[in-house]
Amino acid sequence: MIRYTLKCSAGHQFESWFANAEKYETLKAAGHVACAICGDTSVEKSLMAPAVAPKGEVTLAGETSPQEEALKQMREHIEANSDYVGKDFATTARAIHDGDAPDRMIHGEASLDEAKSLLEDGVPVAPLPFGGPKRAN
Ligand SMILES: [Zn+2]
Repeated sequence: MIRYTLKCSAGHQFESWFANAEKYETLKAAGHVACAICGDTSVEKSLMAPAVAPKGEVTLAGETSPQEEALKQMREHIEANSDYVGKDFATTARAIHDGDAPDRMIHGEASLDEAKSLLEDGVPVAPLPFGGPKRAN
């Protein structure tokens, strides 16, 4: 199972679980992914994910989970579909939220304080359920 934060064309944000990324695409294509608030089926992923867990959500280091395969797929999906902005995550997420940067999916690193501050300002961020991204350079 993977969790996506979704946004409808009216701007509502809601979270939904899917068996895997492929299942999400299939359901979305068939118009079965609808806004939890207004029922709009024009939804898209709204995923800006720092590698920290906000209050109430923690990932245990070294935890072995049956969801490992799903997490691997999610990680590949995120890395293929979002820009890695590293330590500029908080600044970039805020710029996107304020309309000062192109709207896109990003992932990167943020401190717990930065993530909290973003959430308090209404910037949608979500923790990645795995460690920081590895990029071969
Ligand atoms: Zn809606």
